[in-house]
Amino acid sequence: MNSTTTPTTSLTLSHRVNSIGPSATLRITAKANALQKAGKDILIFAAGEPDTPTPEVVVEAAVQALRNGETRYKPALGDVAVREAIAHKLTTQNRIQGLTKDHVAVTFGAKQALYNACQCLFDVAATGTAPAEAIIPVPSWVSYRPIVELAGGKVVTLETLPEHGFKPRPEDFRKLVNERTRAVFLNSPNNPTGAVISPDEMRAIAEELAHLASSVAPNLVILSDEIYENIIFDGMQHCSPGSIESIADRTITINGLSKSASMTGWRAGYAACPGSFGAELIQGMGKVQEQSASNVTSFVMPAMCAALTQIDDHIKRMRTSFEERSRIMYEGLNTIAGVTCTPIRGAFYAFPDVSALLGKTTPKGTKLANSTIFAEALLDEAGIAVIQGAAFEGCGDKHIRFSFAKHVDTLRSGITRFERFCTTLS
Ligand code: PMP
Ligand code: GLU
Repeated sequence: MNSTTTPTTSLTLSHRVNSIGPSATLRITAKANALQKAGKDILIFAAGEPDTPTPEVVVEAAVQALRNGETRYKPALGDVAVREAIAHKLTTQNRIQGLTKDHVAVTFGAKQALYNACQCLFDVAATGTAPAEAIIPVPSWVSYRPIVELAGGKVVTLETLPEHGFKPRPEDFRKLVNERTRAVFLNSPNNPTGAVISPDEMRAIAEELAHLASSVAPNLVILSDEIYENIIFDGMQHCSPGSIESIADRTITINGLSKSASMTGWRAGYAACPGSFGAELIQGMGKVQEQSASNVTSFVMPAMCAALTQIDDHIKRMRTSFEERSRIMYEGLNTIAGVTCTPIRGAFYAFPDVSALLGKTTPKGTKLANSTIFAEALLDEAGIAVIQGAAFEGCGDKHIRFSFAKHVDTLRSGITRFERFCTTLS
């Protein structure tokens, strides 16, 4: 340092940023990719992203849009055409009534849809005042908590259990909802557990939430993350809570094309909510978008239109192929002593319970005290990248998560290698 430079050691970041952690899913994937690139033999089951390319018709729509000069700023909430296509999709496929383009925001992935919605729902509480609360059923996707906390909300976890199929029950909400409840997160099909809430179960949850909203929690809204809606097995039906009349006007549907159209890197998501509250929320989200990122990439929006209307075959093939892979994972993992996997009803994650192996020691002498050490040892000693269940909270620390959006041969090699690792523990 020369004598004219101001020392920077006393500079700090905001408490808000210092208090959140990094995304475990993205960090571990980056580490595993780097090891693989450096020549290490690593089988990667980390971040969840489809292994198939984006359908050609979608790519072509983006290329055409680029050629047509769709390279300039657009309205922050998105093009009219794509907002209308989303409203139409949600009306016809998800049976959500009363949606027009004014009830739809286009965002950089479902992640930003959740982020912008939470910026509109939560305030930083005044000193001495209790913050508004978000009820998050856990184990849950890693980004819900930081998104709520960055907006000033307080997370209240609802523990879902394997014996209940990792699904929240109506009575669970009764215990947690109060006058400060602002948001209830629902995620079916679920990351990381693979749970799917059936239409009957969803109606029962909706009736309870409608009752609680009218009796104790007037500000309650439901954030329904439906990013895995098309990846659903065993003939189960996806149910959008926004289609249930008693809660329709307080349900914000979050979705995107990352999973159903293999578009993770395009950053194509959306939020929708009907009624006058919905229109106001979307305007609010538009302000957040305008003042932070501006519109989603201009030539991505025509591609989103193609993905929303022209890829039925891709979706069918993808569902069949993930269903086959879910069976390989479920059966393969359950043959390993000390590993128990609950049925995988949707999404592309296996979330086996490895608690019977915690406390054991690896051949290199690592004591597997928790799921984080377990996942680290699995990477370092067996070349298998998974996400530690602790990242998903709740009973997650007894589990590890495999993303099975991989070739079946990789899945089989992974299971064989994982079994070998488990049998060497003492
Ligand atoms: N919700 C869940 C449950 C997820 O697993 C993910 C990860 N893709 C997202 C939302 C965010 O998806 P994206 O931002 O890529 O649309
Ligand atoms: N949602 C995926 C996962 O859980 C992708 C990474 C992320 O955005 O968290 O692995």
